[in-house]
Amino acid sequence: MGNRLRMSVAVGLLTSVLTIFAAEGTELTAYVGATIVDPGANVVIPNGVIVVSGNTIQAVGEARSVKIPKTAHVVRLRGKWIVPGYIDVHTHISREGDAKNNVHFFNDNTVWRRDATVPPELPTFLARHLRSGTTTILDIGGPEWTLSVRNATVGEKPWPRVLGAGPIIGTTRPLFGVEGDREGYKAISTPDEGRAAVRLAAALKPDMMKFYLVPAEQTGKPFGEFLPIFEASFDEAHKLGMRTTAHALRLHIAKMAIEAGVDTLAHGVMDAPVDDAFIQTMRQRGVVVAPTLMVLVGPPRTLAGTLRFTDEEKAWGDPDAIADLLEASERAKNTPPNPRRTLMKSDQLEVALRNTKALSDAGVALAVGTDAGLLGVLHGPSILHEFQLMNRAGMTAREVLTAATLGGAKFLGREADLGGLSPGKLADMVVLNADPLADIRNASRMHMVVVGGRMWKPEEILPVSRKLEPR
Ligand SMILES: [Zn+2]
Repeated sequence: MGNRLRMSVAVGLLTSVLTIFAAEGTELTAYVGATIVDPGANVVIPNGVIVVSGNTIQAVGEARSVKIPKTAHVVRLRGKWIVPGYIDVHTHISREGDAKNNVHFFNDNTVWRRDATVPPELPTFLARHLRSGTTTILDIGGPEWTLSVRNATVGEKPWPRVLGAGPIIGTTRPLFGVEGDREGYKAISTPDEGRAAVRLAAALKPDMMKFYLVPAEQTGKPFGEFLPIFEASFDEAHKLGMRTTAHALRLHIAKMAIEAGVDTLAHGVMDAPVDDAFIQTMRQRGVVVAPTLMVLVGPPRTLAGTLRFTDEEKAWGDPDAIADLLEASERAKNTPPNPRRTLMKSDQLEVALRNTKALSDAGVALAVGTDAGLLGVLHGPSILHEFQLMNRAGMTAREVLTAATLGGAKFLGREADLGGLSPGKLADMVVLNADPLADIRNASRMHMVVVGGRMWKPEEILPVSRKLEPR
């Protein structure tokens, strides 16, 4: 009864907020009294004001220096903190993150084809991202349909802004039983094939082009043969004004990707310590790296039978996926290891954590990615788990939040309109109940999420989710 009452109040709120924002996109809203934290700009303003016009930030400053327009709808936020909305640059919306739809992790002979269709849970996955404070996600490679989700109007549904890479271009992968093309994957084996694949993919107007670079023993070819292929591919992408990212988890492969001219790395290096020459090259070329540590947690722990979830994951992750994964993890305790599992050694996370810290200390631009959708990596709250891992690597709360905001914008080539709280940027914000610079776990204490100028209370986004227990 009580719950139903609260639900109808929430629906009432929803309608009134919609009338404020849905008309012309030029309505004014003033967020007043919160501490404004823009980590990428190194700005902290106590008792601040943010004026938003439609979907864009118009003014930011101290209360006494910003004039609040008379017509503005005023949202009082004394005692709260405002940070830019989080950006997850590594998600796969074609996948569920559970075990039953990720059988290829358990059985190498199974080529998984279900991502060819839209998962029925997609609207809830997207809501789970927004509930976790994520206002922009990049689907970093999948079937063509993933690009169509971008047409959804930001603010209409409780979803983040969705960007997409579309089909992946890469080397052949005989190890996984994939010799040539498949849904969402274009295999290339000459420079000309690389250029042709890029032109074909560019016609879909993706927000990023994803390239898959796998080790020599998985391609059946001497690895050196791939450098000219990727040089040609990245060159073609750049000529067409496209930004590029590489799946390259090992040092020698990441080096090749950088040498071939890639703009970003979709993963950190997890097999060896990064060396100074590599770090310097990345800094000079402005390469942005998403360490994507969660993919070194979800899959290996599920396969090793040691999976555990954070409070945020338990509160806002898909309960069916969680139950399914815990059961799979239990089952895995009594199952002999398979080749996939031996590819994932437990020390990879430790290596990746040390590399993350080394890149951060050297001033390489970092972004935040999760690989949400892969085995054991839940859509939504995985980003908050990733924050905690980056913090464990030795990054301060401010450095983690910079990666999650400005770093994500840099990764996407969208510094002009994303990743910060300055005039001209899109009004994507997370309002928090506690100071995120004091403790990164406070980045999970959402009071409200704003995407494209549209305010969402947590209970409007996920009406039946659990509350995070106070610490
Ligand atoms: Zn991925």
